[in-house]
Amino acid sequence: MNQIKNNKDYLKRLVDILSSGKRPTAASPAREKTDQDNLNSQTSQCAEVLAQLREHFAIGAQAFKKGVKIPFVELCHKHKFDEIEMAAFAVYLTIEISGQKVSDLLFDTDTRSIYRCLTNLYGKQKVEIVHYFLSSGKLKRSGVFVQEHNAHDESLTAPSKIKESVIEYLLNGKPRPGNNRLSKARKLARPSQIAEQLNLNVIAQETAKRQLSAVAFQHMERLAKPPAKGLAAPRLNTLLLGPTGCGKTYITRHLAGILGVPVAFCDATQYTETGYVGASVEEMLVHLRKAAGENPKAAEYGIIFIDEIDKIAAQNVGQSHNSERDVSGLSVQQDLLKMLEGENVSYEKSRSMGVSSYTFNVKNILFIASGAFLGLTDVVSERLKSGTSIGFKDQAASAKAEFEQADLLRQVRPQDIIKYGFMPELVGRFPNIITMDKLTREDFLGILSNQRTSLLEHYKTFFARNGIELEIPPAFLEEMADKAAVRDLGARGLNSAVENFFSELMYELLDRKTGLGLQKVNIMDCLRGGRLKELFA
Ligand code: ADP
Repeated sequence: MNQIKNNKDYLKRLVDILSSGKRPTAASPAREKTDQDNLNSQTSQCAEVLAQLREHFAIGAQAFKKGVKIPFVELCHKHKFDEIEMAAFAVYLTIEISGQKVSDLLFDTDTRSIYRCLTNLYGKQKVEIVHYFLSSGKLKRSGVFVQEHNAHDESLTAPSKIKESVIEYLLNGKPRPGNNRLSKARKLARPSQIAEQLNLNVIAQETAKRQLSAVAFQHMERLAKPPAKGLAAPRLNTLLLGPTGCGKTYITRHLAGILGVPVAFCDATQYTETGYVGASVEEMLVHLRKAAGENPKAAEYGIIFIDEIDKIAAQNVGQSHNSERDVSGLSVQQDLLKMLEGENVSYEKSRSMGVSSYTFNVKNILFIASGAFLGLTDVVSERLKSGTSIGFKDQAASAKAEFEQADLLRQVRPQDIIKYGFMPELVGRFPNIITMDKLTREDFLGILSNQRTSLLEHYKTFFARNGIELEIPPAFLEEMADKAAVRDLGARGLNSAVENFFSELMYELLDRKTGLGLQKVNIMDCLRGGRLKELFA
């Protein structure tokens, strides 16, 4: 028996076992394999995997008894999971850790259903597994999973996900799963672990992930260990620069999820000086308060994401500023500054939102302002060329042409933002400037190939439910990535290319489909003919 020395060992072996189910080999040259042959070969391979899994569970249980900390075993023990429940938990966990599809795990060729995977493993009827996820089932009641869909529908894709907080616990042994968002945030560990979590969902943007993780870490630190009275604490507010669709909103959403803090998404263009016509900036706090739900205290450590901050620049120095907003832009900046400088902000208004009076401690809120900042690169290159900037004399010698736009954006300094049209005091309140890259064609391929980020999986399941099995070859991914690269709207362009294609496909295929039974369709054939071809010509 292999020894399990630590949690890492345990998880690695678990992933290895469940990933070892290889697809049955193609038809032998001697004679065509029948469906029955394939089924037999699948069953025997699954039996092998199951035997290894059982042995692993047994070894894990022994190690756990001897005091090795294995959160997976601990949770199974705590919730009294039986073997099938443990296996279901293990399959979900393997998907989380390895990023594999269920279909790659145990030759589940026609659907991503996790049930099918377990059915293969145990050679049982689907329905026998489904009930574990119904409300009376232990898996559901354990609180380890988030129920996403109606589990009665066995054809649905992975109806449950393991909660982020539980994954963190399973991987690192902390924080312990719990409902209290603040206690979860308090226990979250190192920046590298936050970045690892971000890696699961955010493709590319390595530098931004590292920098944001460091900011997030400090944010949690101040929550866990508030600075002593009288001691100055650094502001962590962050300016996120990057072209549209590169994932500024997306990464913030995931960051908040990982930290377990509420987040409010606001748009700077909605606000006006007094709130007379538009909203007043304090309404951002109300949004955050709402996001905190039943835990109002959590709002004081939440994140306020202010999108399109560049649109409230007050000078027309870039190419695309809206000069009409110059005056009001400045007053919104002043209001924002007041809010950022304040400690307790009182807010009385917004009857439409059902709030009449509210006092908010804003000292520990993390503000992340984001924008594309078109034209900012001109400001940067001017500064670099003029050579007045201390410490950048060498770069100043380089002409703008030598810098790619992204490189220039990475050279942004507070003085550039000020020149772009922001009050120095406000810029001073955003000590972190983080630049996100424009996503490349390779990144688009990465997004499409990752089960967590790809819309393709959603459509595959949708069509499977409607009796159509889609075959999506790599050439299709390339095609979509090309479209997105031309659209120049980042991953937004990618998503819309995929959505356009599939809504058109839906119309054509569902209309055409006749009779019962699963119909196989190679998606590249659709791309080559008819309306779809025109659409994507
Ligand atoms: P913006 O930078 O304009 O705020 P968003 O964050 O709104 O862009 O991104 C739009 C969508 O594109 C997201 O909802 C997500 O589906 C996808 N997306 C963007 N960036 C990434 C990324 N780095 N990895 C995976 N998906 C991404």
